[in-house]
Amino acid sequence: MSAVENLTHQPVEGEHFTITSEATGDVWEIVVGLEVHCELATATKLFCSCPNMFGDEPNTNVCPVCLGLPGSLPVLNRNVVELAMRLGRALHCSVEPSVFARKNYFYPDMPKDYQVSQFDRPINVDGWLDLPDGTRVGIERAHIEEDTGKNTHAGGSGRIHGADYSLVDYNRAGVPLVEIVGRPHIRHPEQAKTYIDELRAILLATGASDAKMEEGSLRVDANVSVRRVGDPELGRRCEIKNLNSLRSLGRAIEYEARRQVDLLESGEVVKQETRHWDEGAGRTRPGRSKEEAEDYRYFQEPDLVPLDPGADWIAAIDGAMPALPAARRDTLAAAAGVAPTETAVVVAVQRDLDQLALAAIAAGGDGSRVLLHVEHNLAVEGAESLDPAHFAQLVTMEVAGQLTATQAKTVLGDMLESGKAPDAIAAERGFEAMDSSELEGIVDGIIAESPDEWADYCGGDDKRRGKLQGFFVGKVMKATKGQADGKAVNAILDARRTAAG
Ligand code: ZN
Ligand code: MN
Repeated sequence: MSAVENLTHQPVEGEHFTITSEATGDVWEIVVGLEVHCELATATKLFCSCPNMFGDEPNTNVCPVCLGLPGSLPVLNRNVVELAMRLGRALHCSVEPSVFARKNYFYPDMPKDYQVSQFDRPINVDGWLDLPDGTRVGIERAHIEEDTGKNTHAGGSGRIHGADYSLVDYNRAGVPLVEIVGRPHIRHPEQAKTYIDELRAILLATGASDAKMEEGSLRVDANVSVRRVGDPELGRRCEIKNLNSLRSLGRAIEYEARRQVDLLESGEVVKQETRHWDEGAGRTRPGRSKEEAEDYRYFQEPDLVPLDPGADWIAAIDGAMPALPAARRDTLAAAAGVAPTETAVVVAVQRDLDQLALAAIAAGGDGSRVLLHVEHNLAVEGAESLDPAHFAQLVTMEVAGQLTATQAKTVLGDMLESGKAPDAIAAERGFEAMDSSELEGIVDGIIAESPDEWADYCGGDDKRRGKLQGFFVGKVMKATKGQADGKAVNAILDARRTAAG
């Protein structure tokens, strides 16, 4: 499916990534539309009762239907329709009566020689996804189709060309997919990554998919073109395949945009083609021309009836829709007294730690401190098991100055491991608040040891002072084995400097 021709929505916000030509001074912008295939988290495959399971022994989850043996007939999995519609509604799509079609092509990982997909009558049409920064990215469609098997090319580079032989595993053949075709509203490589992050959060929130890029249950193709800023026409695009991490996605878009600008600046044309991202070489390469021939001879799948879920089913899905990431960000931001666009809020929802944060705030924990720990210290496996009351207690001890930031981080780590209360851990570790006169004595000792640095600190410019502040705080931390409160040390340094000046 092409995402690039149809421009009915315009992005509303967000920073644009531009490339300025040294030769001509022309300023170019990138235009990106993403197509995402995601495997649905059903127990069984799309048209048969084989398990939908990643990582099993090859060719163990197969049957006549998903092997495409003659005489076998597909039976549509009701749960696929349910999850596809839930995802569609979460993306603000309209759910329409749809028709399955055969997409005909030959490849050894596809035993039937056609893929059952939805062509001109997809189930979900015309929605959108809002990025946390407010940019609205249109969704052209999100249709159901079956996954193919998996080829493994042995010998050579791992690509088919130059391989000694190839193996094929049909466990994945017939696994249900939804292909989400986004409109070309993305203008920055970072925005593309944010879009995938947000989509992944929606997939997890709706239970539609486990959205694991590393296991291939979320696969991204990027349509990339460039144009001079202000030009209303879209440039000719290339479709980049093989993007299996967010890092690759960002790098590939930027590389491809620069390649296209170079071509156009030197009077050449961009050839519309499929290209592959080579992570090792950090560049895209043209795909084989065979893969570009897009003549799939679609026709309606004669073994399946049209799909019309009906208004009642759609209403039931809307009624049972779980809270989606955008709404969850708003709730958490309001409770913590910060903006929903704050990174900590975005991260908390992405990592599914917003319920924990809300409970800790409700138990009396300071909102900003709770979010700070969620963003920097809790982005680990199993953090959602943390007791919110203990978490709130830790934050309260920290705000009251009973624990330094460093100590609080250590105690939090212990809490995750042992499940004990923070005051018990702090007592065990001997974390007691340092007496302020004791701390002042240590700071004064260090000032006396370093008279040159101190003179510079008192008289230098802001930049130099900032550097020396780090120098003094570091020395105090070393002398107190990290027990000193950094804020208190800074306050003492400041007071001494004022007194000296
Ligand atoms: Zn099967
Ligand atoms: Mn597809």
